[in-house]
Amino acid sequence: MKGGSAPLLSVEEVWARMRADATTVVEGERVTLDEALSRVLAEDLRAPITVPGFDNSAMDGYAFRADDARGLRELSISLRVAAGDAPGKLSPGTACRIFTGAPMPAGADTVVIQERCERRGDTLVLPDQWTPHANIRRAGEDIRAGDVILREGQRLTPQAVGLAASCGFAEVLVRRRLRVAVLSTGDELRAAGSGPLGQGQIYDSNRPMLRALLAQLGCETRTVGPLGDELATTRQALRAAAESADVIVTTGGVSVGEEDHVKAALEAEGTLALWRVAIKPGKPLAFGRVGEAHFLGLPGNPVSAFVTFLLFVGPFLKALMGETPAPLRAFPVQAAFTRGTPDSRREFLRARLATGADGTLWAETYPRQSSGVLSSTVWADGLVDIAAGRAVAEGDSVPFLPFEGLAS
Ligand code: AMP
Ligand code: MG
Repeated sequence: MKGGSAPLLSVEEVWARMRADATTVVEGERVTLDEALSRVLAEDLRAPITVPGFDNSAMDGYAFRADDARGLRELSISLRVAAGDAPGKLSPGTACRIFTGAPMPAGADTVVIQERCERRGDTLVLPDQWTPHANIRRAGEDIRAGDVILREGQRLTPQAVGLAASCGFAEVLVRRRLRVAVLSTGDELRAAGSGPLGQGQIYDSNRPMLRALLAQLGCETRTVGPLGDELATTRQALRAAAESADVIVTTGGVSVGEEDHVKAALEAEGTLALWRVAIKPGKPLAFGRVGEAHFLGLPGNPVSAFVTFLLFVGPFLKALMGETPAPLRAFPVQAAFTRGTPDSRREFLRARLATGADGTLWAETYPRQSSGVLSSTVWADGLVDIAAGRAVAEGDSVPFLPFEGLAS
Protein backbone atom coordinates (compact mmCIF):
# COMPACT_ATOMS: atom_id res chain seq x y z
CA MET A 1 0.00 0.00 0.00
CA LYS A 2 2.44 2.62 -1.14
CA GLY A 3 1.82 6.19 -2.08
CA GLY A 4 -1.35 7.17 -3.85
CA SER A 5 -1.65 3.94 -5.79
CA ALA A 6 -3.70 2.00 -3.25
CA PRO A 7 -7.27 1.57 -4.47
CA LEU A 8 -9.86 3.65 -2.69
CA LEU A 9 -12.36 1.57 -0.74
CA SER A 10 -16.08 2.16 -0.62
CA VAL A 11 -17.85 3.08 2.61
CA GLU A 12 -19.57 -0.32 2.57
CA GLU A 13 -16.28 -2.19 2.13
CA VAL A 14 -14.82 -0.35 5.10
CA TRP A 15 -17.86 -1.07 7.26
CA ALA A 16 -17.86 -4.75 6.37
CA ARG A 17 -14.19 -5.03 7.22
CA MET A 18 -14.56 -3.17 10.48
CA ARG A 19 -17.61 -5.16 11.52
CA ALA A 20 -15.72 -8.39 10.93
CA ASP A 21 -13.02 -7.15 13.31
CA ALA A 22 -15.33 -5.85 16.02
CA THR A 23 -15.51 -8.40 18.79
CA THR A 24 -17.82 -7.25 21.54
CA VAL A 25 -16.27 -6.58 24.92
CA VAL A 26 -17.58 -9.15 27.36
CA GLU A 27 -17.06 -7.51 30.71
CA GLY A 28 -20.00 -5.79 32.32
CA GLU A 29 -20.40 -3.63 35.37
CA ARG A 30 -23.32 -2.66 37.56
CA VAL A 31 -24.09 1.03 37.54
CA THR A 32 -26.78 3.10 39.17
CA LEU A 33 -29.39 4.66 36.92
CA ASP A 34 -27.69 7.99 37.48
CA GLU A 35 -24.64 6.63 35.72
CA ALA A 36 -26.47 4.61 33.09
CA LEU A 37 -27.09 7.22 30.39
CA SER A 38 -25.48 6.29 27.06
CA ARG A 39 -24.24 2.96 28.40
CA VAL A 40 -25.02 -0.29 26.59
CA LEU A 41 -27.07 -2.88 28.45
CA ALA A 42 -25.31 -6.19 29.06
CA GLU A 43 -28.50 -8.03 30.08
CA ASP A 44 -32.15 -8.20 29.16
CA LEU A 45 -34.21 -6.33 31.72
CA ARG A 46 -37.33 -8.23 32.64
CA ALA A 47 -40.04 -6.36 34.51
CA PRO A 48 -40.48 -7.71 38.03
CA ILE A 49 -43.79 -5.86 38.37
CA THR A 50 -46.78 -4.79 36.34
CA VAL A 51 -46.94 -1.07 35.52
CA PRO A 52 -49.21 0.54 36.41
CA GLY A 53 -49.90 -1.87 39.20
CA PHE A 54 -53.53 -0.81 39.59
CA ASP A 55 -56.31 0.83 37.59
CA ASN A 56 -56.04 4.57 38.15
CA SER A 57 -57.58 7.81 37.03
CA ALA A 58 -56.03 9.49 34.00
CA MET A 59 -57.53 12.86 34.92
CA ASP A 60 -58.68 15.03 37.78
CA GLY A 61 -62.43 14.48 38.00
CA TYR A 62 -65.14 12.31 39.44
CA ALA A 63 -65.42 8.53 39.44
CA PHE A 64 -68.55 6.44 39.63
CA ARG A 65 -70.06 3.26 38.25
CA ALA A 66 -71.53 3.80 34.78
CA ASP A 67 -74.48 1.49 35.39
CA ASP A 68 -75.43 3.40 38.56
CA ALA A 69 -75.35 6.81 36.87
CA ARG A 70 -77.13 6.11 33.62
CA GLY A 71 -80.10 8.43 33.29
CA LEU A 72 -79.21 10.39 36.44
CA ARG A 73 -78.27 14.08 36.52
CA GLU A 74 -76.83 14.11 40.02
CA LEU A 75 -74.85 11.86 42.32
CA SER A 76 -73.83 12.51 45.86
CA ILE A 77 -70.09 12.58 46.50
CA SER A 78 -69.18 10.08 49.20
CA LEU A 79 -65.45 9.56 48.78
CA ARG A 80 -62.22 11.34 47.90
CA VAL A 81 -59.13 9.56 46.55
CA ALA A 82 -55.89 11.34 45.68
CA ALA A 83 -52.69 10.00 44.10
CA GLY A 84 -50.81 7.94 46.66
CA ASP A 85 -53.93 7.00 48.63
CA ALA A 86 -54.91 3.40 49.11
CA PRO A 87 -57.86 2.57 46.90
CA GLY A 88 -61.17 3.07 48.67
CA LYS A 89 -64.50 1.40 48.17
CA LEU A 90 -67.30 3.40 46.65
CA SER A 91 -70.84 3.05 47.97
CA PRO A 92 -73.27 2.09 45.21
CA GLY A 93 -75.01 5.00 43.52
CA THR A 94 -72.49 7.63 44.67
CA ALA A 95 -69.49 9.40 43.15
CA CYS A 96 -65.89 9.85 44.21
CA ARG A 97 -63.75 12.95 43.88
CA ILE A 98 -60.62 11.61 42.21
CA PHE A 99 -57.27 12.95 41.00
CA THR A 100 -54.81 11.95 38.30
CA GLY A 101 -52.89 8.83 39.28
CA ALA A 102 -55.22 7.98 42.16
CA PRO A 103 -56.28 4.32 42.36
CA MET A 104 -59.81 3.68 41.16
CA PRO A 105 -61.97 2.76 44.11
CA ALA A 106 -63.68 -0.60 43.97
CA GLY A 107 -67.16 -0.06 42.61
CA ALA A 108 -66.19 2.72 40.15
CA ASP A 109 -65.49 2.18 36.45
CA THR A 110 -65.76 5.62 34.85
CA VAL A 111 -64.12 9.01 35.31
CA VAL A 112 -65.59 12.26 34.05
CA ILE A 113 -63.11 15.13 33.98
CA GLN A 114 -63.73 17.97 36.38
CA GLU A 115 -64.02 20.61 33.65
CA ARG A 116 -67.16 18.89 32.38
CA CYS A 117 -68.86 18.58 35.77
CA GLU A 118 -70.43 20.98 38.17
CA ARG A 119 -70.12 20.58 41.88
CA ARG A 120 -72.69 21.88 44.36
CA GLY A 121 -71.51 21.12 47.87
CA ASP A 122 -71.45 17.36 48.10
CA THR A 123 -73.47 16.91 44.97
CA LEU A 124 -72.00 16.19 41.57
CA VAL A 125 -73.93 17.46 38.56
CA LEU A 126 -73.09 15.31 35.54
CA PRO A 127 -72.80 16.66 32.01
CA ASP A 128 -75.44 15.70 29.46
CA GLN A 129 -73.13 13.21 27.89
CA TRP A 130 -70.26 11.19 29.24
CA THR A 131 -68.51 8.05 28.12
CA PRO A 132 -68.65 4.92 30.25
CA HIS A 133 -65.23 3.50 31.21
CA ALA A 134 -63.41 6.62 30.03
CA ASN A 135 -60.32 8.27 31.54
CA ILE A 136 -58.98 5.21 33.30
CA ARG A 137 -55.46 3.88 32.94
CA ARG A 138 -55.60 0.14 33.24
CA ALA A 139 -53.27 -1.95 35.35
CA GLY A 140 -50.55 -3.34 33.07
CA GLU A 141 -51.34 -1.05 30.14
CA ASP A 142 -47.66 -0.05 30.05
CA ILE A 143 -45.80 -3.17 31.21
CA ARG A 144 -46.72 -6.64 32.40
CA ALA A 145 -44.59 -8.46 34.97
CA GLY A 146 -42.17 -10.70 33.07
CA ASP A 147 -42.04 -8.52 29.94
CA VAL A 148 -38.56 -7.75 28.59
CA ILE A 149 -38.58 -3.97 28.81
CA LEU A 150 -35.04 -3.36 27.55
CA ARG A 151 -32.76 -5.68 25.63
CA GLU A 152 -29.10 -6.52 25.90
CA GLY A 153 -27.18 -4.39 23.43
CA GLN A 154 -29.54 -1.44 23.73
CA ARG A 155 -27.99 1.94 24.42
CA LEU A 156 -29.71 3.62 27.33
CA THR A 157 -31.45 6.84 26.40
CA PRO A 158 -32.98 9.15 29.03
CA GLN A 159 -36.35 7.55 28.35
CA ALA A 160 -34.90 4.05 28.79
CA VAL A 161 -33.51 5.15 32.16
CA GLY A 162 -37.03 6.30 33.06
CA LEU A 163 -38.54 3.01 31.91
CA ALA A 164 -36.08 0.97 34.01
CA ALA A 165 -36.89 3.11 37.05
CA SER A 166 -40.63 2.63 36.49
CA CYS A 167 -40.07 -1.08 37.11
CA GLY A 168 -38.04 -0.40 40.25
CA PHE A 169 -34.55 -1.00 38.89
CA ALA A 170 -32.00 1.14 40.73
CA GLU A 171 -29.02 -0.45 38.99
CA VAL A 172 -28.40 -2.09 35.64
CA LEU A 173 -25.68 -4.28 34.20
CA VAL A 174 -23.94 -2.48 31.35
CA ARG A 175 -20.91 -3.18 29.20
CA ARG A 176 -17.81 -1.66 30.66
CA ARG A 177 -16.67 1.59 29.14
CA LEU A 178 -14.36 1.29 26.18
CA ARG A 179 -10.97 2.80 26.81
CA VAL A 180 -10.06 4.98 23.87
CA ALA A 181 -6.74 6.75 23.44
CA VAL A 182 -6.86 9.88 21.30
CA LEU A 183 -3.62 11.06 19.76
CA SER A 184 -3.31 14.21 17.72
CA THR A 185 -0.28 14.73 15.54
CA GLY A 186 1.19 17.78 13.85
CA ASP A 187 4.18 20.04 14.47
CA GLU A 188 1.92 23.05 13.94
CA LEU A 189 -0.49 22.15 16.76
CA ARG A 190 -0.78 23.73 20.17
CA ALA A 191 -3.20 22.76 22.84
CA ALA A 192 -5.74 25.47 23.65
CA GLY A 193 -4.73 27.00 26.96
CA SER A 194 -1.04 26.35 26.44
CA GLY A 195 -0.30 29.93 25.46
CA PRO A 196 -0.56 32.14 22.39
CA LEU A 197 0.18 30.79 18.93
CA GLY A 198 3.59 31.20 17.40
CA GLN A 199 4.29 31.63 13.71
CA GLY A 200 2.57 28.99 11.60
CA GLN A 201 0.85 27.41 14.57
CA ILE A 202 -2.82 26.51 15.03
CA TYR A 203 -4.78 25.25 17.98
CA ASP A 204 -5.50 21.55 18.17
CA SER A 205 -9.23 21.33 17.60
CA ASN A 206 -9.46 17.63 16.85
CA ARG A 207 -8.35 16.26 20.17
CA PRO A 208 -11.03 18.05 22.25
CA MET A 209 -13.62 17.40 19.53
CA LEU A 210 -12.89 13.69 19.42
CA ARG A 211 -12.90 13.50 23.16
CA ALA A 212 -16.35 15.10 23.20
CA LEU A 213 -17.62 12.74 20.51
CA LEU A 214 -16.31 9.79 22.51
CA ALA A 215 -17.89 11.08 25.71
CA GLN A 216 -21.27 11.05 23.96
CA LEU A 217 -20.75 7.36 23.29
CA GLY A 218 -19.92 6.64 26.91
CA CYS A 219 -16.23 5.93 26.29
CA GLU A 220 -13.42 6.56 28.71
CA THR A 221 -10.80 8.62 26.92
CA ARG A 222 -7.19 9.38 27.44
CA THR A 223 -5.67 11.93 25.16
CA VAL A 224 -2.06 12.27 24.10
CA GLY A 225 -0.52 15.07 22.13
CA PRO A 226 -0.20 17.07 20.15
CA LEU A 227 2.64 14.83 18.98
CA GLY A 228 5.27 16.17 16.62
CA ASP A 229 5.63 14.91 13.08
CA GLU A 230 8.30 12.42 13.88
CA LEU A 231 8.33 8.68 13.32
CA ALA A 232 10.09 7.58 16.51
CA THR A 233 7.83 9.53 18.89
CA THR A 234 4.75 8.47 16.97
CA ARG A 235 5.77 4.80 17.20
CA GLN A 236 6.52 5.17 20.88
CA ALA A 237 3.14 6.83 21.50
CA LEU A 238 1.29 4.07 19.65
CA ARG A 239 3.09 1.41 21.66
CA ALA A 240 2.31 3.13 24.93
CA ALA A 241 -1.34 3.70 24.01
CA ALA A 242 -1.81 0.06 22.98
CA GLU A 243 -0.90 -1.08 26.46
CA SER A 244 -4.04 0.26 28.06
CA ALA A 245 -6.47 1.19 25.30
CA ASP A 246 -9.09 -0.91 23.55
CA VAL A 247 -9.00 1.51 20.66
CA ILE A 248 -6.49 4.10 19.49
CA VAL A 249 -7.79 7.02 17.47
CA THR A 250 -5.27 9.34 15.86
CA THR A 251 -5.72 12.47 13.78
CA GLY A 252 -3.38 13.85 11.18
CA GLY A 253 -0.28 12.47 9.58
CA VAL A 254 -2.05 9.63 7.85
CA SER A 255 -1.72 10.93 4.32
CA VAL A 256 1.22 10.51 1.94
CA GLY A 257 3.38 13.57 2.64
CA GLU A 258 6.92 13.31 3.97
CA GLU A 259 5.67 14.73 7.24
CA ASP A 260 3.02 12.05 7.61
CA HIS A 261 4.32 9.35 9.93
CA VAL A 262 1.23 7.77 11.42
CA LYS A 263 0.74 5.16 8.74
CA ALA A 264 4.41 4.18 8.80
CA ALA A 265 4.34 4.05 12.60
CA LEU A 266 1.30 1.79 12.47
CA GLU A 267 2.94 -0.52 9.96
CA ALA A 268 6.03 -0.68 12.16
CA GLU A 269 4.21 -1.24 15.46
CA GLY A 270 1.18 -3.16 14.26
CA THR A 271 -0.76 -3.92 11.13
CA LEU A 272 -2.59 -1.79 8.62
CA ALA A 273 -5.76 -3.56 7.49
CA LEU A 274 -7.15 -0.89 5.24
CA TRP A 275 -6.38 2.60 4.13
CA ARG A 276 -8.16 5.29 2.17
CA VAL A 277 -11.85 5.53 1.52
CA ALA A 278 -13.51 6.93 -1.58
CA ILE A 279 -15.23 9.78 0.24
CA LYS A 280 -14.95 13.52 0.45
CA PRO A 281 -14.04 14.76 2.98
CA GLY A 282 -12.07 12.04 4.73
CA LYS A 283 -10.16 10.03 2.15
CA PRO A 284 -7.03 9.16 4.17
CA LEU A 285 -8.62 6.94 6.82
CA ALA A 286 -6.56 4.05 8.19
CA PHE A 287 -7.73 1.03 10.13
CA GLY A 288 -5.66 -1.67 11.77
CA ARG A 289 -4.26 -2.92 15.03
CA VAL A 290 -1.45 -2.21 17.44
CA GLY A 291 -1.04 -5.22 19.65
CA GLU A 292 -4.46 -5.97 21.13
CA ALA A 293 -5.74 -2.46 20.46
CA HIS A 294 -7.76 -1.50 17.43
CA PHE A 295 -6.41 1.42 15.50
CA LEU A 296 -8.30 4.12 13.61
CA GLY A 297 -6.26 6.83 11.95
CA LEU A 298 -8.35 9.86 10.99
CA PRO A 299 -7.30 12.67 8.69
CA GLY A 300 -6.05 15.89 10.25
CA ASN A 301 -8.43 18.28 8.57
CA PRO A 302 -10.99 18.94 11.27
CA VAL A 303 -14.07 18.43 9.09
CA SER A 304 -12.59 15.21 7.74
CA ALA A 305 -11.87 14.02 11.27
CA PHE A 306 -15.43 14.86 12.29
CA VAL A 307 -17.08 13.18 9.31
CA THR A 308 -14.92 10.05 9.46
CA PHE A 309 -15.65 9.76 13.15
CA LEU A 310 -19.39 9.86 12.47
CA LEU A 311 -19.22 7.44 9.58
CA PHE A 312 -16.69 4.93 10.87
CA VAL A 313 -15.38 5.39 14.40
CA GLY A 314 -18.82 5.73 16.02
CA PRO A 315 -20.32 2.66 14.33
CA PHE A 316 -17.15 0.65 15.05
CA LEU A 317 -17.16 1.55 18.74
CA LYS A 318 -20.85 0.73 18.93
CA ALA A 319 -20.12 -2.69 17.44
CA LEU A 320 -17.40 -3.25 20.06
CA MET A 321 -19.97 -2.36 22.71
CA GLY A 322 -22.28 -4.98 21.27
CA GLU A 323 -24.80 -2.56 19.91
CA THR A 324 -26.60 -3.81 16.86
CA PRO A 325 -25.10 -1.70 14.07
CA ALA A 326 -27.86 0.57 12.86
CA PRO A 327 -27.64 1.39 9.18
CA LEU A 328 -27.13 5.04 8.38
CA ARG A 329 -30.64 6.40 8.62
CA ALA A 330 -30.87 8.93 5.85
CA PHE A 331 -34.14 10.54 4.89
CA PRO A 332 -34.90 12.21 1.58
CA VAL A 333 -34.95 16.00 1.38
CA GLN A 334 -34.93 18.39 -1.55
CA ALA A 335 -31.71 20.04 -2.60
CA ALA A 336 -31.76 23.82 -2.21
CA PHE A 337 -28.42 23.83 -4.05
CA THR A 338 -26.88 22.68 -7.30
CA ARG A 339 -23.85 20.51 -7.70
CA GLY A 340 -22.97 20.81 -11.34
CA THR A 341 -19.73 18.88 -11.59
CA PRO A 342 -19.97 15.35 -10.26
CA ASP A 343 -17.13 14.11 -8.04
CA SER A 344 -15.51 10.72 -8.42
CA ARG A 345 -15.83 10.24 -4.65
CA ARG A 346 -18.98 9.96 -2.56
CA GLU A 347 -19.43 13.35 -0.98
CA PHE A 348 -20.82 14.35 2.39
CA LEU A 349 -21.83 18.00 2.33
CA ARG A 350 -22.55 19.95 5.49
CA ALA A 351 -26.15 21.01 5.19
CA ARG A 352 -28.90 22.67 7.12
CA LEU A 353 -32.60 21.95 6.82
CA ALA A 354 -35.26 24.52 6.11
CA THR A 355 -38.98 23.88 5.88
CA GLY A 356 -40.78 25.18 2.79
CA ALA A 357 -44.27 26.72 2.90
CA ASP A 358 -45.78 23.35 1.94
CA GLY A 359 -43.86 21.53 4.69
CA THR A 360 -41.20 20.09 2.37
CA LEU A 361 -37.73 19.85 3.88
CA TRP A 362 -34.99 21.54 1.90
CA ALA A 363 -31.28 21.07 2.44
CA GLU A 364 -29.13 24.12 2.08
CA THR A 365 -25.37 23.56 1.99
CA TYR A 366 -22.74 25.62 3.74
CA PRO A 367 -21.08 27.88 1.17
CA ARG A 368 -17.56 26.78 2.08
CA GLN A 369 -17.22 23.00 2.01
CA SER A 370 -13.45 22.93 2.51
CA SER A 371 -12.41 20.23 4.98
CA GLY A 372 -10.66 22.87 7.06
CA VAL A 373 -13.80 24.93 7.69
CA LEU A 374 -15.02 23.60 11.01
CA SER A 375 -17.67 26.36 11.23
CA SER A 376 -19.60 24.38 8.61
CA THR A 377 -20.13 21.53 11.08
CA VAL A 378 -21.56 23.83 13.73
CA TRP A 379 -23.80 25.64 11.24
CA ALA A 380 -25.10 22.38 9.76
CA ASP A 381 -27.76 19.96 11.02
CA GLY A 382 -26.22 17.03 9.21
CA LEU A 383 -24.75 15.74 5.99
CA VAL A 384 -26.15 15.41 2.52
CA ASP A 385 -24.88 12.17 1.03
CA ILE A 386 -24.07 12.53 -2.67
CA ALA A 387 -23.19 9.37 -4.54
CA ALA A 388 -19.98 9.29 -6.57
CA GLY A 389 -20.48 10.66 -10.05
CA ARG A 390 -23.80 12.29 -9.25
CA ALA A 391 -24.71 15.82 -10.28
CA VAL A 392 -27.44 17.54 -8.29
CA ALA A 393 -29.91 20.11 -9.57
CA GLU A 394 -32.00 22.30 -7.32
CA GLY A 395 -35.14 20.44 -6.25
CA ASP A 396 -33.59 16.98 -6.63
CA SER A 397 -34.18 14.54 -3.83
CA VAL A 398 -31.02 13.87 -1.84
CA PRO A 399 -30.39 11.69 1.24
CA PHE A 400 -29.85 13.61 4.46
CA LEU A 401 -28.07 12.23 7.51
CA PRO A 402 -28.86 14.18 10.69
CA PHE A 403 -25.95 14.63 13.08
CA GLU A 404 -28.03 13.42 16.05
CA GLY A 405 -28.51 10.04 14.46
CA LEU A 406 -24.83 9.79 13.68
CA ALA A 407 -23.15 11.11 16.78
CA SER A 408 -24.97 9.26 19.54
P1 AMP B 1 -2.58 16.22 8.03
O1 AMP B 1 -3.66 15.20 7.94
O2 AMP B 1 -1.66 16.00 9.16
O3 AMP B 1 -1.89 16.37 6.70
O4 AMP B 1 -3.31 17.60 8.32
C1 AMP B 1 -4.21 18.15 7.38
C2 AMP B 1 -4.61 19.54 7.84
O5 AMP B 1 -5.32 19.44 9.07
C3 AMP B 1 -3.46 20.46 8.11
O6 AMP B 1 -3.83 21.75 7.66
C4 AMP B 1 -3.30 20.46 9.61
O7 AMP B 1 -2.74 21.63 10.11
C5 AMP B 1 -4.71 20.27 10.06
N1 AMP B 1 -4.77 19.56 11.33
C6 AMP B 1 -4.16 18.40 11.61
N2 AMP B 1 -4.41 18.02 12.86
C7 AMP B 1 -5.20 18.97 13.42
C8 AMP B 1 -5.78 19.15 14.68
N3 AMP B 1 -5.59 18.24 15.64
N4 AMP B 1 -6.53 20.25 14.89
C9 AMP B 1 -6.70 21.15 13.90
N5 AMP B 1 -6.20 21.03 12.68
C10 AMP B 1 -5.43 19.97 12.42
MG1 MG C 1 0.06 16.85 9.76
